[in-house]
Amino acid sequence: IPKHADLQPYNFAVAGHDGTLCDPEGELFIKPCVQQEIDFYEKAFKDHPAFADLMPEYLGTLVLNDASDVHDIEEQIPAAVEHMTQHFKEEAVRMAKQHAADVAAAEAAKEADALAASKDNVSWKPNKSRKIATDKSVVLENAAYGFKRPNILDAKLGQRLWADDAPMEKRKRFDEITKVTTNGSHGFRIAGMRVYKGGENPDEWDQEGYKVYHKDHGRLVVNKDNVVDEIRKFIFNPRANIDEDLGRAVAEAFVNDLKRVEQVLASSETRMYSASLLFTFEGDGDALRAAIENQTPTTPPKEATEKEPVPLASRVDSGIVMDGEGEIILPQGNGTTINGVIEGDVKVLRLAGEAESDDEEFASLPKIYSLKLIDFAHATWVPGQGPDENSLFGVRSLIKIFEELAK
Ligand code: ADP
Ligand code: MN
Repeated sequence: IPKHADLQPYNFAVAGHDGTLCDPEGELFIKPCVQQEIDFYEKAFKDHPAFADLMPEYLGTLVLNDASDVHDIEEQIPAAVEHMTQHFKEEAVRMAKQHAADVAAAEAAKEADALAASKDNVSWKPNKSRKIATDKSVVLENAAYGFKRPNILDAKLGQRLWADDAPMEKRKRFDEITKVTTNGSHGFRIAGMRVYKGGENPDEWDQEGYKVYHKDHGRLVVNKDNVVDEIRKFIFNPRANIDEDLGRAVAEAFVNDLKRVEQVLASSETRMYSASLLFTFEGDGDALRAAIENQTPTTPPKEATEKEPVPLASRVDSGIVMDGEGEIILPQGNGTTINGVIEGDVKVLRLAGEAESDDEEFASLPKIYSLKLIDFAHATWVPGQGPDENSLFGVRSLIKIFEELAK
């Protein structure tokens, strides 16, 4: 049982901001985020179960209290998290500092935008309620959990990458990126990728044996003509014993899941800008074969009588708050709260709804592959406005590419 105090940096992020954490077992992924992302998860898990199925399981939020108010972060944060390990204290301080810096940068950007707008004499005006960094984090299922050597690809979706509230400068910058990357030609680009024993040259592997493709790879190397071959490098890898047959099987599995994503997006009313599809599969060919063999018609069927199914809405237990005494407060759906100390079990996050038994949790391990929709910092529900064709274009391109790889 992981201790809250043992949260540690998450090392497998292939793109995005720093500051992500996970528990020692690696089951949870914790990411500092904006309120908009929390709202999007909440709504999905409450009202859109098919859509929620595409997302990592959402377990709630974590809050560092008063971080927006912190004047002397070094002093205040460690005092508030007395019970934590030194490591997590440092991480908390780092996150709080980052938050303060983000707020300052957002303020500066707002002023610059206002100035630019007045100079250009255009009618755009900065949105007062514009979402800026918050002190909150989402607590999610870690998509890389259960793999021996997870290969991971972050495909950032959209031709248009900016949301309605983006300032002119950002729109122009992102449109320029679209123009010169596969966001333009295919409606997605590789934002980051890591492949166990990948690439041509072992000198390029990191300590754990991964070839890591950073964001520049998807911006400068990948183009409309080589994109299929670049994704081929993700799937097929003789150095890790992933031969043609095995690679094709993986590609086919992704095609099936991608078609499900297409189907659900086509019947949902969302607008997501710069969301991603996170592809993960077992990058060690031997472990992959073993996982496939282990996968099973023989897994015992869930006993319907064992426990009542948990209504989706009650699986969402958000608003977990850390107070100054180092306690966490779990608001319950009915308005009551549970208090617990920080040193308690991280799984306490699940109290409000889910009571998965260990058996169920581990029933599907080791894992073969996973496809998840992530990154909803600029996503909204738009009832009545129809499907998100901007994101769907990218999904459909990915279907064609993975179909090609499965041939
Ligand atoms: P950002 O807003 O910083 O781009 P993302 O949600 O895109 O945040 O996450 C950044 C990176 O973290 C992703 O590219 C992916 O590698 C990793 N990541 C995100 N969500 C999960 C998750 N639930 N499980 C595992 N890794 C994740
Ligand atoms: Mn991202």
